[in-house]
Amino acid sequence: MSAQANTQETEQNEDKIRPQRLEDYIGQKDLKGILNIAIAAAKGRKDPLDHLLLYGPPGLGKTTMSLILAAEMEVNCKITSAPALERPRDITGLLVNLKPGDILFIDEIHRLNRMTEELLYPAMEDFRLDVTIGKGQTAKTRSIPLPPFTLVGATTKAGSLSSPLRDRFGMIQRLRFYELDELTLIVKRTAEIINIAIKEEGAEEIARRSRGTPRIANRLLRRVRDYVEVHKAEIITEELAATAMELFDVDAQGLDWTDRLVLNTIIEQFHGGPVGLEAIAAATGEDRKTIEEVYEPYLLQIGYLSRTHRGRMVTEKAYQHLGFKTDEPSQTELQF
Ligand code: ADP
Repeated sequence: MSAQANTQETEQNEDKIRPQRLEDYIGQKDLKGILNIAIAAAKGRKDPLDHLLLYGPPGLGKTTMSLILAAEMEVNCKITSAPALERPRDITGLLVNLKPGDILFIDEIHRLNRMTEELLYPAMEDFRLDVTIGKGQTAKTRSIPLPPFTLVGATTKAGSLSSPLRDRFGMIQRLRFYELDELTLIVKRTAEIINIAIKEEGAEEIARRSRGTPRIANRLLRRVRDYVEVHKAEIITEELAATAMELFDVDAQGLDWTDRLVLNTIIEQFHGGPVGLEAIAAATGEDRKTIEEVYEPYLLQIGYLSRTHRGRMVTEKAYQHLGFKTDEPSQTELQF
């Protein structure tokens, strides 16, 4: 299959397995509770929803939630991401084409450039677009009214947003890593949609290795399905799931090659830490941002890494998981 056909297939599948309504969205109970109220109130007042900032690691369901909000409010959702909004006309083009109540979803919103961000301030606050026409001394600013709309911003790092932008969101909500039982439900739901039989324990085994993340759970399920199909098995069992995932280098805790590289590097080259992100990135050859936004959050969550004011440290739990002996504290720990 060509790369393009492959991407198309993935996108179609992605659309099929995305929950469509709030009631199908598994987990994130607090978030759903808050949004349920916001939806009912906005509908009652016939107003658009307040601007919403969703933050949390990738794959936890930010885009999905934005699409669900649009479905619940019976409006359209336009999806874009900050890196695609390079020139002022990119954002103005999107804004002037919105219909009343529509949702504009901007992914990676912490990466907006200054000009785009400044165009968004009056748009968010007063539903007004301030555009400059002409150049130099003859330049004039004109205000164009916009339909009331909802901006849903998504970011992996709420702290990276400028405060004027952050302050313009009426709701700021964090998405959490999912619990094992929630991920098991997600795996079972997706298995049904993609038409593969799975045992409860099989679903649990995949869930356990999914780093608390639905996107990873769905991805692992697809890999396990391939394995099971090639081996002509009828149903995904715990053993089959485990064997397949070992083959794909996903260990019992869901750590992959890069997670282990990061931890092993800190242990072997920096005596377990504390060590700064830059040094970890240089020693592993991984991008600093990717380590910080994709790998580190889960390692912190499961207590394999800890963050001190002097940098990251590998914990005893991680030493044990990776098969290191921990009876002798590292040099750096002794200095504390
Ligand atoms: P993000 O925008 O946070 O990176 P997405 O919204 O794209 O994440 O979600 C990734 C995938 O995980 C989606 O395709 C969706 O199928 C699945 N998913 C996310 N959240 C949930 C959920 N709460 N229940 C079921 N599936 C979910």
